[in-house]
Amino acid sequence: ARRIITADLAAHPHGRWLDEGTAARLLSAYAINTAESVPVDGPERAAEAASVVGLPAVLKAVGPGLVHKSDVGGVRIGLRTPDEVRQAYREMADRLGPAMTGAIVQAMAGEGTEMIIGGVAHETFGPLIMVGLGGVATELLADRAFRVPPIDRAEAARMIAELRCAPLLYGYRGRPAADVAALEEQIVRVGRFMDDLPDVAELDLNPVIVTPDGAVAVDCRVRLA
Ligand code: ADP
Ligand code: MG
Repeated sequence: ARRIITADLAAHPHGRWLDEGTAARLLSAYAINTAESVPVDGPERAAEAASVVGLPAVLKAVGPGLVHKSDVGGVRIGLRTPDEVRQAYREMADRLGPAMTGAIVQAMAGEGTEMIIGGVAHETFGPLIMVGLGGVATELLADRAFRVPPIDRAEAARMIAELRCAPLLYGYRGRPAADVAALEEQIVRVGRFMDDLPDVAELDLNPVIVTPDGAVAVDCRVRLA
């Protein structure tokens, strides 16, 4: 992880939001579970990649200024065939124009609850980690718990229990219970990551999709400073 950070800071001395691939490599050094993302540069490559990662697939536009991808129609989920992926790429590229420099292809995560796990290097307090309800309602509901890392599994469990959305994970009104242990483990690992790496200014995993059999981050952003 330190090697990846040193190399990136050498190329971008003022820090930056890492590209998707670099962020994923950094997170995998801490065994933080992220969806496999294949970078592609055109509709044919996108269709091929979908056969590799598995269908149904997800297509996401990539470009230097594309931050909230779904706000600009830069995320298409549930694409069932390579041909649907090809068409989706063409349509996205036409609509977004030069803002879109490429895309990534992922497999669809299973049905689950969308959570957010975040980290920030606070000027006064040092590293802080956060877990909360993710997806589109994140900002609106601000259902979040914070800690100073590192933390252990029991503390991660307490963070989750503090959330108003916790019943959604435990199995609410006949919904299947989510794999809370996998979510706890992701939080512990994010804690180690933020605690170990002072050059990481900000980390945003939104959403982490928690299904009955795992927790996977499908959108990962890391900022170095
Ligand atoms: P952004 O936050 O830039 O708009 P995301 O990558 O977070 O884009 O995707 C937006 C939404 O699309 C997610 O909140 C989730 O509902 C859905 N989504 C994204 N990737 C996947 C995936 N691999 N599997 C299932 N749903 C996904
Ligand atoms: Mg997101």
